[in-house]
Amino acid sequence: KPQIVWLRRDLRMADNPALYAAAQQGPVVAVYVLDDEAAGDHKYGGASRWWLHHSLESLSKSFGARNSRIVLRRGDAVEEVTKVANAVGAETVHANRHYEPWWRKAQGKLAKELDLQLYDGNYLFPPGYITTGSGDPYKIYTPFSKATKEQFPPRDELPEPETLSSPEEWPASDSLEDWDLLPTKPNWATGIADFWEVGEAAAHERLDWWDDEVDRYEDGRNLPSVDETSQMSPHLHWGEISPIQIWHRFKDKRSEGWKTYEKELIWRDYAQNVICQFPSYAKESYREGWDSDMGWRNPNRGHVIQEELEAWQQGRTGYPIVDAGMRQLWQTGWMHNRVRMITASFLIKHLLIDWKHGERWFWDCLVDADYGSNGTNWQWVAGTGVDSNMFSRIMAPLTQSEKFDAAGYIRTYVPELANLPDDKIHDPEEHGCKPEDYPSKIIGHKEARERALETYRAMKS
Ligand code: FAD
Repeated sequence: KPQIVWLRRDLRMADNPALYAAAQQGPVVAVYVLDDEAAGDHKYGGASRWWLHHSLESLSKSFGARNSRIVLRRGDAVEEVTKVANAVGAETVHANRHYEPWWRKAQGKLAKELDLQLYDGNYLFPPGYITTGSGDPYKIYTPFSKATKEQFPPRDELPEPETLSSPEEWPASDSLEDWDLLPTKPNWATGIADFWEVGEAAAHERLDWWDDEVDRYEDGRNLPSVDETSQMSPHLHWGEISPIQIWHRFKDKRSEGWKTYEKELIWRDYAQNVICQFPSYAKESYREGWDSDMGWRNPNRGHVIQEELEAWQQGRTGYPIVDAGMRQLWQTGWMHNRVRMITASFLIKHLLIDWKHGERWFWDCLVDADYGSNGTNWQWVAGTGVDSNMFSRIMAPLTQSEKFDAAGYIRTYVPELANLPDDKIHDPEEHGCKPEDYPSKIIGHKEARERALETYRAMKS
């Protein structure tokens, strides 16, 4: 009997437990459903749609090379998968578990319609597996990380299925082009297209490059001017490669770089662990009072605040490191982690705008936009989360820019400042060399800091 493989963010042939199991049991009918309803306000944003298009295109070629194909459908995922199964006379659906609240709901519904076999595909360990002595999930990263390491090694890596046999007749499929996932006019994605190679083969090429670099990660990871993070996040997010594959590749390394990189992969697992416990985590502050009593400057309440939000989005705050980060995000669909922290902190604390506005913008602009990782990191920076930094710890963007030597990074993304020397580029206004076409600071650091702390104190009292 034909076996359905329901693809979501697991767009790869190798180490794909659902595909591997299905291929052993019968002809494979892989289905991808573009469901814009299930996720509600977290339907894929613009940059994600761009990536999805190219990733599906690439994986379809891999299926094609094995005389197979991916059936594309648009609509309610549960209904469409059921329809495809009925059309080919399949009873069993194989899928890798996903943990976003809408996918958990869909998995529950589909299991009532068909024999749904779920596998652990995209994380080192499935959320819920790492528990405290009393069997509860961890809420805090550090003990979670420690307990995760005690469980290593993770499961074995799986090869690509040897053969993919076809059903007698293929069910109807949409054409990818008709989904309009790519921007047309204006085509804002040219910078993204220049920056990235999409797909499983590209993910493995990146991994080969990273094999030579990972030992330097400990020193280089905080420096946005140098290319010393893996830039694997979109490949991991879309499941073009699994963290299991990365882990097995590097497991014999002894460098501090690899140890630190392993911790980042555990952060990724941790974020899923958080959204499993708190499904609304990317939409609501975990800590009480922060959504109702904190004096956020709500952009809906005044055009000045709306303009400030837009200045942040467009990289026009007058703080070069913040502007470089926001422009990198817009141009490439990605931002360096250190700068994600600086720009997020700036929105929340300097502009005193609720973190959810930032989460939304990142959701739309990042090619690695991930419900779990984005929500967890925004709440971490805001100080509103289950395990987070303190709100009162306010990052000083200019100090950060100097400390992490961001001059080269600023030159790349803020060309107006490209001719300034290293010692002036972090704060041209202060040094009296701000070019006319570069904005003045939207608010002074000291003033912003005092306003944030005062507002925080008012909420606490
Ligand atoms: P590397 O430094 O090479 O790290 C390796 C991998 O570990 C990454 O690819 C990623 O999968 C994982 N990882 C690293 N740091 C984190 C982290 N803090 N939390 C979770 N996973 C991590 N990451 C996303 O994948 N999607 C998001 O939507 C996202 N939103 C973020 C929002 C904010 C405000 C902040 C501060 C961070 C966010 N991150 C997000 C985490 C982190 O910035 C990115 O994972 C990282 O910058 C990706 O680049 P890289 O692949 O070169 O990372």
